[in-house]
Order: sequence, then structure tokens, then C-alpha cells
Amino acid sequence: MICSDRRSGLRAVIAIDDSTLGPGLGGVRWQAYPNELAAVDEARRLARVMTLKNACADLPYGGAKSVILKDDVIPADGPRRRQAQLEAFGRFVGRLGGAYIPGVDMGTSVEDLAVIGLGPADVACDHEDPSPWTALGVLAGIRAALSSVGIALPGAHVVVQGAGHVGADLARRLAEAGCRVSVADVDPVRAHAVARDVGGRVVAPVAALTTRCDVLAPCATAKVIDRSTVDALECRIVAGGANDVLATPDVAAMLADRGIVYVPDFVINAGGVIHIHALRATWGPDKLEGSLLAIGDRVAAMLAQSERTGLTPLAVAEDVVSHRLGRPIALPT
Ligand code: NAD
Repeated sequence: MICSDRRSGLRAVIAIDDSTLGPGLGGVRWQAYPNELAAVDEARRLARVMTLKNACADLPYGGAKSVILKDDVIPADGPRRRQAQLEAFGRFVGRLGGAYIPGVDMGTSVEDLAVIGLGPADVACDHEDPSPWTALGVLAGIRAALSSVGIALPGAHVVVQGAGHVGADLARRLAEAGCRVSVADVDPVRAHAVARDVGGRVVAPVAALTTRCDVLAPCATAKVIDRSTVDALECRIVAGGANDVLATPDVAAMLADRGIVYVPDFVINAGGVIHIHALRATWGPDKLEGSLLAIGDRVAAMLAQSERTGLTPLAVAEDVVSHRLGRPIALPT
């Protein structure tokens, strides 16, 4: 759905990729795009990732995502305009009659989702930020991935790229578990604050991929590893909270050729959507925790299957989802 509201100036795209397992659940990303076509492409790609994520986590949701095109110039009535655009966006979501359930993503907050939900739209994340749960699931996945290569979590060196909502929480949990943590962020104040909190060190953003470590945990932007950067990696494992870590799916095979274990992002970062479902289904804390820790079991099983079959962990994860949906499905190329 292409959304355009002349009054508020809203321009947005809602993509519903698959609804086999239920309504499309996926965040609202608010950022600048060079043009509408780029926004459509991004929404469609990210919606496919959500199909894979929700199905892999065994949740009763399909895949969807939306993007709001950020204004080139911040107008004088900035906050009021933002509120009006969010309300208009909520009306578009409402028109879909529950087929799309929006949550937070880069550029939007719990407060924004509460505004989107003022009208008829059913929204997630309007009360609680899912990031701590995402981080908890990522930690479980990192533990399993380390174990698959015979390294214990305590003492492992992890480079956390991006010290935002997910990265900062993950860094803290890793430090508590006895890891050596290095932090990279394009915002140096944030990087230093998180590194200080966890007793770690700061790595320059340009050096995040090339710092020798056991685990590179991407927790910032998309497409951080591409064909040209694979050879420069100095880690044993890539496993983090960011969505869409690989620039193209073929990079998964290049990582495997280098002996680097890649844990598919949509498998390891599902803690946030699991938490959303737990709230909607009124799960108790034990059931939620069990489901988050199951991410570790899932990662372990997929890596073992990859080892047995010679398929990449990405191909194994895509097979799991294809089986669940009853049709072949893969990341978009
Ligand atoms: P955030 O905006 O809070 O944090 C991102 C951080 O990355 C910021 O501190 C930013 O300065 C930094 N950053 C941006 N570009 C960078 C670069 N090139 N190098 C180093 N640092 C850089 O976002 P978040 O909510 O923590 O989400 C992080 C990632 O995790 C995103 O890819 C998001 O889609 C994904 N994700 C988040 C959740 C969640 O629950 N929040 C769930 C699943 C996936």
C-alpha cells in the first residue's frame, strides 16, 4: 500500500509479504530515501525478512513492514507535523482491517506507536520497547554459536557494532556473562558511555569489521557485510541484533568458505517479536523466558544441521521456514 496524505505531508509504504501464518507483523521504519521506489524496495525486502523471522520463531504472524519517508527538510512545526503524519499513517493501517500490525523499528519509538494506535489501527510496541528482549535472544544465540565452535561465552571477545537500544543492552548482558566487549558506534558519545558502563573498550566505527574477535555482533544498520568486506573480517562468528546483515544472500556462502559461522539475523534477533506475541497472548514471564532462550536451541540445531549437510546456516533456516509455510521461500536476492 502506497500511503500519501497531502494534509500532513505523509508519504509511506506498507508491504505485506505473506499472511499464511497470520496477520503481517513488522516495524515502522522512518528514514530518508532517495525516492519512492527505493522506499518500496526496502519495505518489500524487510517484509520478507519478517516472514522468515516470525515463521522461524513459530509465531502466528505473517511478514510485513512499513517505511515512512523522512522529510528532506525539518519544517518549523516539526513535532506537530510528526504527530499529524503518525496519525495519518495510523488511518492507513486501520484501512487494512488488521492485516498489518505495526511495531517499532529504526526511527520510531514506543511513543510514536502509541500515536499510530490512537485511531482504528491495532498496533504493537505502544507500551514497551522490545529491545531488551531482542538482546536477550541474541545473547542466547551467541552462546549457542560459540559453543558450536568450542568456545565458552565467559572470556569470549565480542565486538558490538551499534550501541543503541539493542546493542547497549546486549553489551551489558555480555559483560555480565564474563565476555570481553568492544563497542563501535558512529556516535562517539554513545560508544564511550556504553564502553564505560560495561568495562569495555571503544573501537572506531570503520574498524568494527576488521577487529580481531570471537564474535562480531552487528546491532546497527543493514547490509554491513558485502562481497567486498567478507575477506577483511577477523571474527570467528557473525551473530547480532541487526536486520538484513548481509548485503546479498550469496555472502552467506562466502562467509562459510572463510570458515566464519554466520547466524542468520532473522533467527537470532526474534526476541522482540516473541515479546510482542507474549504481550498479545498474555503469556507469563516463565513462558516468555523459555521462548526467548529457545532461540539458542534453534541456533544450535541449525548450525548442527549446517555442519551435517554442508548447507549454509542461511539455507538451513530458509528450509525450516519453507517447510512451515508449505512453499519455498528465501531472502530476496
Ligand atoms: P538504534 O537506532 O537504537 O541503535 C542503532 C545504533 O547504531 C545507534 O547508536 C547508531 O548511532 C549506531 N550506528 C548507526 N550506523 C552505524 C555504523 N555504521 N557503525 C556503528 N554504529 C552505527 O536501533 P536499535 O533499535 O538498537 O536496532 C538496531 C538494529 O537491530 C536495527 O538493524 C534493527 O532493525 C534491528 N532490530 C531491532 C530490534 C529491536 O527490538 N529494537 C529487533 C530486531 C531487530
